Amino acid sequence: MKKENSKVQLTSTCPCCGSKAIDSWIKAGYPLFACSNCEHLFCDAGQDNDHIETVYSDDYFEGGGGGYSDYLQHQNALVRQGAKYAGVLNRHVKPGRILNIGSAAGFIQKGFEQKGWATVGVEPNRSMAEFAKNKLGVEVIHGAFEDLKNNDTDLAPFDAATLIQVLSHLREPVQCLQQIHGLLRPHGFLLIETWNRKSITARVFGKKWHQYNPPSVLHWYTKKHLESMLENSGFKVIEGGRPTKWISLGNGVSLIRHSLRDSTIGRIAASPLALIPKGLKVPYFMGDVFWMVGQKVD
Ligand SMILES: [Zn+2]
Repeated sequence: MKKENSKVQLTSTCPCCGSKAIDSWIKAGYPLFACSNCEHLFCDAGQDNDHIETVYSDDYFEGGGGGYSDYLQHQNALVRQGAKYAGVLNRHVKPGRILNIGSAAGFIQKGFEQKGWATVGVEPNRSMAEFAKNKLGVEVIHGAFEDLKNNDTDLAPFDAATLIQVLSHLREPVQCLQQIHGLLRPHGFLLIETWNRKSITARVFGKKWHQYNPPSVLHWYTKKHLESMLENSGFKVIEGGRPTKWISLGNGVSLIRHSLRDSTIGRIAASPLALIPKGLKVPYFMGDVFWMVGQKVD
């Protein structure tokens, strides 16, 4: 819900530990709640029935702003990223069947397939799911992961699952981790890539950090907190690190301009960015992204 009166302090319940949380600041009209017990920071904007359809419309993947300026141009980088993460899992297990949650256009799936994995994607955006099926030939279930029915998952148990740039967007992250736990075989693996709100970059940018972007982004994690969430959901953390990411300047520029849009000075400072060629790929070295692999223990 958007906050109308900034003088009224709102409270909410932490979706991770159930403790009381109070709103700590407002971003784009949405209160962000800090848990009084664990390190979780969250926004409760995802409760509307049409949240997923509204936020992950085609515009999210093509329209810039807080989403992507043109998701499809990331194809090569995302296929490489999928192959790299497959390499991480392959150090622990022989390639088997993997569930890619929030699979978008299927590029990361394709990378896993290059390294021997059989993949199934789950993607709420119809255009992306159809692109993945028709253009890449990968298997995709169209819909929200939370709505996945038992008869959609007759391929389960899976040997592994991924949440790459997805966990921050889920409305109920703890329930999703438990749902994944149930879909994995004993000792199966879960690979997560997400953002670190305690990273130096996040601290330097403060409230203007590009990941403070509700209502698309709803949850903000720290490494320590995510590790305890995984342990509480029946996983043991076995490996972690920072990814080498390549992003297109178009997407980086779009995110920076979106972050600075609220002030006149920010808009003026961001205006030369419009002149940068958008297709150019650059390494993303800000250090605020991390990955973690959990293994199912029970
Ligand atoms: Zn909490």
